[in-house]
Amino acid sequence: MQISILSVVVILIILYFKFGDRLKKKYKFDFKPEYKIILQEKVAFYAALSNEEKIRFEYEMTDFLKRTRITGIDIAIDDADKLLVAASAVIPVFAFHDWHYSSITEVLIYPDNFNESFETAGPERQILGMVGTGAMHGTMILSKQALHHGFMNETDKHNTAIHEFVHLLDKSDGAIDGIPENLLGKHYVMPWVNLMADEIKKIKAHKSDINPYGATNNAEFFAVVSEYFFEQPDILHKKHPELYEMLERIFKRKST
Ligand SMILES: [Zn+2]
Repeated sequence: MQISILSVVVILIILYFKFGDRLKKKYKFDFKPEYKIILQEKVAFYAALSNEEKIRFEYEMTDFLKRTRITGIDIAIDDADKLLVAASAVIPVFAFHDWHYSSITEVLIYPDNFNESFETAGPERQILGMVGTGAMHGTMILSKQALHHGFMNETDKHNTAIHEFVHLLDKSDGAIDGIPENLLGKHYVMPWVNLMADEIKKIKAHKSDINPYGATNNAEFFAVVSEYFFEQPDILHKKHPELYEMLERIFKRKST
């Protein structure tokens, strides 16, 4: 029996629609077409995904926004702000499937950098973002400027919002200590600790292109190199292959 090209095409079309239906059933949610345009324009990570992955990314973002309030403090916030916060939350955990950050219920958006007393005016306002502790547990604060800047310049190695969500991920094993034991696996804890110590030494000796803030402590090192990993993976791979491999392991982004 001869199979015509037409029947092959018909079969492919039927399969496409069946598969599409399955996706819709699995991910039941509304996502405005204009949101897709914003993401495509501003979020390089999203733009590089396949169509199927994009749907899952949108689904994970919608789920995050359902669970997390996003509030502007002395500033009006719009859908683009909320989308960038949700994208920053999803990027580090995208490979985990259905990850829920357990220690956050609200993200406060400040207009600009702030200081330790949460003031957005006056001197010594160097903080761009932070994960709240103590009375502020469950809250993250982000500067709106820093949030947008993180997605504006794709050639640097900085993304404040991703940095803060990596701290939360780090916290998922109980401590923000730069050692995400639950994600690394026991065997890799010591190699990771040693690698961090070596790289921090190099930063302190001015022999590294990693943001010097990463030398503050292990927790900051992990968050800073994670920004680098998601912003400039190719350069990180080339310049710091060992570090890259460890981060691939942590974020489950190994393709082979
Ligand atoms: Zn930090």
